[in-house]
This record gives sequence, structure tokens and C-alpha cells, in this order.
Amino acid sequence: MGNERRNFMKVLGAGLAVTALSAGTAGATSAGKKSAQKDGPRWGMVVDLRLCIGCQACTVACSTENQIPLGHFRTIVSSYEVTSGGRPRRYTLPRLCNHCAKPACVTVCPTQATRQRSDGAVVVDNTVCIGCGYCIQACPYDARFINPLTKTADKCTFCLHRIEAGLLPACVETCVSGARTFGDLNDPRSAVSRLLATVPTQVLKKDMGTAPRVFYIGLDEDFSGRVEGRQVLNPAGQAEHQEDSI
Ligand code: SF4
Ligand code: SF4
Repeated sequence: MGNERRNFMKVLGAGLAVTALSAGTAGATSAGKKSAQKDGPRWGMVVDLRLCIGCQACTVACSTENQIPLGHFRTIVSSYEVTSGGRPRRYTLPRLCNHCAKPACVTVCPTQATRQRSDGAVVVDNTVCIGCGYCIQACPYDARFINPLTKTADKCTFCLHRIEAGLLPACVETCVSGARTFGDLNDPRSAVSRLLATVPTQVLKKDMGTAPRVFYIGLDEDFSGRVEGRQVLNPAGQAEHQEDSI
């Protein structure tokens, strides 16, 4: 078990203990004495592009963990050959649902199948989803798809089933270079909060006003709006690259 996982489980345990304590002493808590943990966790992720080597271990781990049908992905790592100012460059960009604080997908859903939980995770209730696809069109990040098995909207859940068991999301657990850090944005001691406090970060398509909770270290400003594209794993399990230019 790695240090990151041990720390996450320790922090999760502390968060749950505080949540339980808060619930048990709700009436006794005096107004004005709000702890940073009183509102419970607010999950987020930091992806350090300086560390990502584009190996797709996260893509495969996510697909296996969540039993995603072939040809669809809850997280992908796209590689782009970009020519900017006459200079060719390569970008590797891991992507997933940003669990936006202001999610465009929630407001358009006619059945409230898509909703945001109090911990910030944006989820789909596939017993209520009618598969209309409005959310897919509304998401500026190409983060959703219609699952061909359930015929309902599908996307990253931050592996909530793992988080609630004290585990990290599969993509974080599997990342060979430690490029993905996950944790509680409400806890200033969490690894994600410490990264956000000490290292400059960017989000994708900031101008959309969706307030993503997936943050990037080392995201080129020229590239921050470029998230369209399809990830296809070829039969050898290697990602096919998309070429593009700014
Ligand atoms: S990235 Fe897309 S699917 Fe995820 S919360 Fe934001 S708008 Fe919704
Ligand atoms: S596809 Fe499902 S989750 Fe998306 S807008 Fe339609 S009903 Fe809502």
C-alpha cells in the first residue's frame, strides 16, 4: 500500500469521524464555530501533466473497475501533436468528468437523473435517466456517453464506490507516475489542497464558467480549451493519437 493511499484512508477516516461527530452533536454545535470539515468532503483531483507519461494505465484500470463497454471511456489520455508558431509539440492530456461546481449537464436534464451530491460528485441515476442525451450535448468537456448496455448516460463517478470503501479512484491508484492526486478540497491538510495551495494550476475551458474540480499542473494556456477528440485503444491496447494544430 503506497503512502498516498495510506494518507487518503487516514484522512477519509478522519473526515467520516468528523461527519459522524457533526451529525451526533448537531444541536450542541454553537453557531460561528464552523470547522473546515463541518460540511463534509468536497472531492477533487489534481493532474500533474509534468508527470503523466501517457501510458494509459489509468484508462485501462478505469474500464476494468467500472466494466465500461468496449469503445467507451470514463477517463481517457489523449495525445496531441500540436503545431504552434511553426513549432511542433506533443501534449498528453488525461481527461475525465470535471465534477464541475456549476455543471452544465445538471441543469439540462429533464428527469433530474443527473445531479450533484453534497460532496460535489456529479452522478447519474440510470434508473431515472431516459437516455435523451441532452447532458452529453451540454457538457463542454466531452465527458459523457450513452452506455450501449444500459442505454443511459454514463461518465466518471470519481469511483464513489471505492471512495466510500476508503480507497482511491482506480485511475489514481493505478497511475504509475503519481500524476493523479485525489482528495478532499475542504480539508486544507489533504494532498489535493496542499498542491492547490503551493503549485499554480489551471482548469480546462475556464471561460465556460463551469468551475471544474479537476485541476491541472503544467497545462499550456494555448491548449486549455482543446478537449475534443476521441480516444481509441487499438487491438494491441495502445492508444491511437490524434493530430491537431492550434
Ligand atoms: S465535466 Fe461535463 S459531465 Fe462532468 S460535471 Fe462538468 S459538465 Fe457535467
Ligand atoms: S440522457 Fe439521462 S441524464 Fe442525460 S439529460 Fe437525458 S435523462 Fe438526464
